[in-house]
Amino acid sequence: MELNERIVIIGGGLSGLTLAYLLSKNKINATVLEASSRLGGRIQTIRGVLGTPLELGATWFSEMHPQLLALIDELGLKKYPQISKGISLFQTKSFEPPQRFFIPESESPSYRLVGGTQVLVDTLVQKLSTGTVFPNAKITAVRETEDRILLETVEGDTMEADKVVICTPPQLAVRHIKFSPQLPEELNTILPNVQTWMAGAVKFTLEYDRPFWRTAGYSGMLYSHAGIIMEMYDHTNFEENKFGFTGFLNSASATYPTEVRKDFVLRQLGELLGAPALEPVGYFDKVWTDEFVLADHQLIQRPHQYNGHPLLRESYMGGRLFFAATETASQFPGYMEGAVIAAQSVLIRL
Ligand SMILES: Cc1cc2nc3c(=O)[nH]c(=O)nc-3n(C[C@H](O)[C@H](O)[C@H](O)COP(=O)(O)OP(=O)(O)OC[C@H]3O[C@@H](n4cnc5c(N)ncnc54)[C@H](O)[C@@H]3O)c2cc1C
Repeated sequence: MELNERIVIIGGGLSGLTLAYLLSKNKINATVLEASSRLGGRIQTIRGVLGTPLELGATWFSEMHPQLLALIDELGLKKYPQISKGISLFQTKSFEPPQRFFIPESESPSYRLVGGTQVLVDTLVQKLSTGTVFPNAKITAVRETEDRILLETVEGDTMEADKVVICTPPQLAVRHIKFSPQLPEELNTILPNVQTWMAGAVKFTLEYDRPFWRTAGYSGMLYSHAGIIMEMYDHTNFEENKFGFTGFLNSASATYPTEVRKDFVLRQLGELLGAPALEPVGYFDKVWTDEFVLADHQLIQRPHQYNGHPLLRESYMGGRLFFAATETASQFPGYMEGAVIAAQSVLIRL
């Protein structure tokens, strides 16, 4: 890697932005091209009606994620433990009362970021020089020329680079980007089958003006085989003045209209937590199937299929092309920790 090299990063999610940040610490100004109008990719915190930070995407991390924790620390951000105190519920069947259980206090907590996970994305962007990040720049072609790489956007704009790092889910890259010359056969066989972690997931959030479940002794944690909600957790903010829930809905609900999903969610919670659950201030959800995360129907036979495959950490096009989304990471691929590890690992190879 040389100081005057033009490095272009495709994808403005956590891996791409972390890489741009690490390069900037090495005095290299990379360019980040992001297809969507929004930065953050699978990280997306929205503000509810009352201003509650609500996570539609990545939410939790733990002590098992040292690289992410170190980055959070370095950026001066703060974490806080996920609330788990109180009665948690497990619904095995819709026609039987839920089982009640308690999470032992000794259990190491999951953490959330104060202000919401988006703060991580926003802070990384703030650390970059202006003119580094370009939203609405979807790359559709990567061409190797004699001494560089030529990139083309969906709008037909072109850009030259000495090195290109693809920080989009590998499966998405092979679906939306035309490579010339073609990538090696062995890699081309793998790319369409690299599972994009959480593509297709349905995440929901609810906002309330008071934590009625906590005053009734509940933790807000629910696991269910019986209703539309499969997993749910308390979503109180760090300051403990904004309240809600977040969690995952079953995959069948992806095809329902939002109002129908909301209806089923409230019905399930009303039965479990009583009438106050039926009066949220806000309901928001997201089906993660848009063009920025899901390519085609994924033929997935096991979780994290081909995640971390060694071919994803090779370079191509004569050492000018690299892959570095979370799915490429040797450890914790698919997670935020994997995104940070992928950025760190490609930095050394550039
Ligand atoms: C619902 C959900 C819940 C999750 N929960 C957790 C959690 O609790 N904890 C955890 O650790 N992880 C969680 N994850 C996973 C976590 O979000 C990801 O590991 C991480 O955000 C991935 O970052 P990334 O930069 O590698 O990829 P992405 O975030 O996918 O970023 C890739 C970027 O590339 C852009 N892009 C795509 N194609 C192109 C193109 N052709 N040209 C230019 N740009 C392009 C996309 O728009 C996107 O912004 C969750 C994910 C989801 C969806």
